[in-house]
Amino acid sequence: MSESESQPKKRFPLTLDFVTGLSGRSKAAEHRTRSTQTATRNINERAAAARPLPAPTVMPTVVSKPQRPAAMGDGAVNAPLVSEAVRKAMVRRIAQQGVKDAAVLAAMESVPRHFFLEPGLASQAYVDTALPIGYHQTISKPSIVARMIEVMREGVDGKLGRVLEIGTGCGYQAAVLAQVAGEVYSIERMRPLHELARSNLRALCIPNLRLHYGDGMLGLPQCAPFDGIILAAAGLDVPQALLDQMALGGRLIAPVGQRVQRLKLVVRTKPNEWVADLLEPCHFVPMRPGTFG
Ligand code: SAH
Repeated sequence: MSESESQPKKRFPLTLDFVTGLSGRSKAAEHRTRSTQTATRNINERAAAARPLPAPTVMPTVVSKPQRPAAMGDGAVNAPLVSEAVRKAMVRRIAQQGVKDAAVLAAMESVPRHFFLEPGLASQAYVDTALPIGYHQTISKPSIVARMIEVMREGVDGKLGRVLEIGTGCGYQAAVLAQVAGEVYSIERMRPLHELARSNLRALCIPNLRLHYGDGMLGLPQCAPFDGIILAAAGLDVPQALLDQMALGGRLIAPVGQRVQRLKLVVRTKPNEWVADLLEPCHFVPMRPGTFG
């Protein structure tokens, strides 16, 4: 089963226009001058610039202060406040589900998930659900993104070093990873999704993130070893090539299985020793060999 099958139908109370003011992708942010600000600040500012606020028709329950309508001429100023408030509420729910790592929660709060969805789905961006991104693939559920990154980071003080993600999809998790790791490499096997992620991420200007088009089952030997590896698609087991590309002490987290899947944590304890643990059940799209497109 793919993650997208569990998504709620259209009845979520927030309208797209209300949450994001997104009526099409503005290119405004792409023409801004780059600065030396942090990636996080760039994310917030560029998302803000790209999201004018239209006149709301419904008030969401999670926003306590009513926003003034766009007719008053300040839509672009209020838009980021609305999406930030809804995102904060999402992060609070993730924390209530047991994610404790403050760095992960802060990363989840800083990345505008609605930015990675097509306009018709952006109103659901802060609901804890997987959503379609095209080509039968999904953006992962926010809570599983947070949980997996937390497991991968366990025992790490400060930032993780070098991280590899298999399955870039739309690029959302890669953007979150880039907030908690020094260097992030992400591989996608479907060219149209690799291009989609590239375009989603371009405006966010994340300097420590590199996207690759290819078969992630082979890893990225030229950039190994990795302190952390995270798989966003489920195979029957973890490919040996990925185990070989782990640094000593490195941690890999992956969904494994077919109809019934579980998260698997692997730690490389010695050059020839890997210790594995099966964690909770999960639902991911399948990992496929080779490339497409
Ligand atoms: N990381 C995404 C989730 C993407 S869904 C997020 O931020 O939400 C999983 C992705 O894994 C799909 O885009 C799929 O095409 C990709 N995938 C599956 N098998 C792969 C492989 N062997 N190499 C690279 N990507 C793969």
